[in-house]
Amino acid sequence: MPRKIVIVGGVAGGASAAAKARRQDENADIVMFEKGPYISFANCGLPYFISGDIKEREKLFVQTVDAFRKRFNVESKVNCEVVSIDRANKEVAVRDLINGKVFKERYDKLILATGATPIVPPIPSIDAKNVFKLQNISDMDEIMEYLNARSPKSILIIGGGSIGLELVEAFAKRGLKVTIAELLDQVMPSMDTDMASFITEHLRERGVSVHLKDGVKALRGEEFVQEIELNSGARIPTDMAIISIGVRPNIYLARDAGLHIGKTGAVWVNERQETSDPNIYAVGDMTESTHIVTKKRAWIPLATSATKQGRVAGANAAGGNKVFKGVLGTSIVRVMNITAARTGLSEKEAKALGTDYYVSYSNSPSHANYYPDASALFIKLVVERGNGRLLGAQVVGEEGVDKRIDVFASALYSGLTVMDLEDLDLAYSPPYSSARDPVVIAGMAASNILREETESVTPNEVRERIASGNSGLQFLDVRTGEEVDEGYISDMKHIPLDDLRGRMDELDRIREIIVYCKSGLRSYLATRILSQRGFRDVKNMSGGYIIWTHQGEE
Ligand code: FAD
Repeated sequence: MPRKIVIVGGVAGGASAAAKARRQDENADIVMFEKGPYISFANCGLPYFISGDIKEREKLFVQTVDAFRKRFNVESKVNCEVVSIDRANKEVAVRDLINGKVFKERYDKLILATGATPIVPPIPSIDAKNVFKLQNISDMDEIMEYLNARSPKSILIIGGGSIGLELVEAFAKRGLKVTIAELLDQVMPSMDTDMASFITEHLRERGVSVHLKDGVKALRGEEFVQEIELNSGARIPTDMAIISIGVRPNIYLARDAGLHIGKTGAVWVNERQETSDPNIYAVGDMTESTHIVTKKRAWIPLATSATKQGRVAGANAAGGNKVFKGVLGTSIVRVMNITAARTGLSEKEAKALGTDYYVSYSNSPSHANYYPDASALFIKLVVERGNGRLLGAQVVGEEGVDKRIDVFASALYSGLTVMDLEDLDLAYSPPYSSARDPVVIAGMAASNILREETESVTPNEVRERIASGNSGLQFLDVRTGEEVDEGYISDMKHIPLDDLRGRMDELDRIREIIVYCKSGLRSYLATRILSQRGFRDVKNMSGGYIIWTHQGEE
């Protein structure tokens, strides 16, 4: 009898599993149940249909039930919810959501890919007709219908994660006045505050109203919400709202079947994607996996992992032997021409884990400065102290962020050090990069600290020294006069870098000197000059005045 493989959930992880299972075993009997009306659609594309970047709705369907049957001989049953698993008899109970009938389906191998569920806060009027979430095609259709029928002029987006930010761009492109409210003190919670501040600043400059450290207290209005009150008391009139405050793993089927749930709250699986029952696999947003850097369990729900895990589970359920090595949490978001990306550990994650780390910042042009339209790429690396192993990277800029973050992700996957980054042989031609690519420069900046060629402090460390009250610090600002006119650290001594050799006697040789410039390069050069001319206690403020202002107002 052919092997019977049943899959629950028919989108990223489920459809990948089905297609791979078929490639592994042409004779298997494969059935995929999906409780929604569509299979294999592009969740990640939904904001771009709302924005108008994607013009045809059909493009969002990677596969249809018919096409999937023809190409892969997989039977997809939509509007069918799997309601329970009988592990002893190896069968699932399925409710047909159209006629309400429940039927049983036998399996040899079961693959769960039930995804995640958006978190909806229990606030009155959350069910109002102009308050939406965005997880699937039906949600998107409802939003589009409302936009077309009512032509709203304003929107409040609740939650500043990557989906919230993509929606900021989408609705701004449609001409709505956009407000975003986020409970934390930053948008993009997976990044560090100093790097996320680039996004906040960028959005404010473009007219988006950003409320940080401010959650939603009340939605006012009955059938339609007209005003939203934030915890701070701010009242924001709005024509519509979208809730995107995160998701939680959809584990109810697995939990009710007695499968092991991991410490993260998601379903435990081994590297073959097997659950605690070897006949049941689980993939995607409902599962936890191993973090490649920390080797600890992590729950990071992303399409990139779901599709790889689906492939592994599909192969193994059909008799193959594949493993999923783990996650780095590599992710990227674009919002109104600024792109932010991260991979591996952020500084706050490294700190929470008790890692012995240091951080290094660099700022380089996205491509050769002399070739038109270069823009700044800001990079933050988190590095293991002592051996220089790269632990994480964050990149923000207008161009070339995607390529750099992927190089860092590959470096993390391979366990490279920051000295290895200095030596990478990366492609260069003026429209694409510089002879020293921003990744190489980031590696050099971090390696200089590791080799103690320069002593460095972060703006955060300086602020902590000042807060502790006994700083005794002397600040040296080596930027130009025009830059200083736009803001500076109080009580600093201003000597532009090019004047430093002739004016260093103006500095106190006894007191510790913190040198800063815009982003850390000129101040690094200044520390090299001073330390070779007899100044004993000179430190470069890595990240410079930009990161200083991102960590607090001067
Ligand atoms: P899903 O793709 O969500 O599929 C789960 C399916 O299971 C659902 O269709 C659900 O209806 C079905 N289901 C649940 N329970 C049952 C049941 N009992 N019976 C039958 N069917 C059931 N990730 C990125 O990496 N990059 C991005 O840019 C990105 N952008 C995103 C934008 C949006 C708007 C959204 C919503 C998500 C985005 N993601 C992105 C996340 C990504 O879509 C998910 O990580 C990925 O889809 C997870 O795949 P999955 O198979 O685990 O779950």
